[in-house]
Amino acid sequence: LNAQVIEGKEIARSIRNRVRETVETLFAERSPRLVSLLIGGEDPSSKVYLANQQKTAAKAGIDYRRVELPDQVSEREALEVIAGLNGDPQTQGVIIQRPLPEHLDPLGLIRAVHPDKDVEGLHPSNLGAIAHGRPRLVPCTAEAAILLFRSLDRPVKGLEVVVVGHSEIVGKPIALLLVHELATVTICHIGTRDLASHTRRADLLFVATGVPGLIRGEDVKPGAVVIDIGINAVEVDEGGKKRTRIVGDVDFESASRMADAITPVPGGVGPVTTAMLMENTLKAALFQRGE
Ligand code: NDP
Repeated sequence: LNAQVIEGKEIARSIRNRVRETVETLFAERSPRLVSLLIGGEDPSSKVYLANQQKTAAKAGIDYRRVELPDQVSEREALEVIAGLNGDPQTQGVIIQRPLPEHLDPLGLIRAVHPDKDVEGLHPSNLGAIAHGRPRLVPCTAEAAILLFRSLDRPVKGLEVVVVGHSEIVGKPIALLLVHELATVTICHIGTRDLASHTRRADLLFVATGVPGLIRGEDVKPGAVVIDIGINAVEVDEGGKKRTRIVGDVDFESASRMADAITPVPGGVGPVTTAMLMENTLKAALFQRGE
């Protein structure tokens, strides 16, 4: 292993502490409230996310609440609950937990959240603000991924950046944010003909596909910075016993021999993402106070 490992835990801790200190100073009378809307709580990954959110909120001084709706809730009822949260002066941030039951359209619900309470940064007006170069609430994972790179304190201007995956929560916002800082950005996806020919040119490589081990050492430019956003549960055989392990979209072993710096999974982008959610809740609370 040659690469510097960019640890997310330390960065997450400093974000949480900064949020808590600001909350204590500016919101001494009442902490900003973050409401997580969970519809049909059967998905095991949702439970893990919720537990992480709750723990992180407690450490950041954010008042975290959970609102649960049954699996069969109609779209109209779900929209009414969201409208209620939009109008509730006690609620500063709203997250809609995914995956959602099949019959609900995620975009329909996301668009219903007031843009000033959209702490996930997914409302079209918040994504549009990024396209306009005036980011307000930015998707937490995209912001976290960029922040891990920033911790190296290197300039962005002129870098060849390759982003693999173009979802609204990760790939697209990362690409737009870095274009505004004058990086040369290539976005790759399922239609990309020769993925490795692009990733091998990247000074800074972001990978967010949900495909475990998609990027290997030979796909990485020597000396590159690699930010692995993937979180994948895979079954591994450990001495005859089947275990579930969390791995990224990058094969850490081989990529860390090529890269100059790389994020681990777990312990990289993940914890910083949850910390950013608290920072966005604080930002949302400030917007709502007109600051
Ligand atoms: P999506 O499934 O929404 O998007 C995946 C993207 O990767 C799509 O743009 C898809 O292209 C592209 N893609 C899929 N397979 C390939 C391939 N073989 N080659 C090139 N591109 C490919 O996923 P998300 O963006 O929501 O999440 C991506 C990963 O990041 C997941 O592992 C997820 O668990 C993780 N994640 C981590 C978070 C964190 O906090 N660290 C938060 C959110 C997600 P196309 O659309 O063209 O098919």
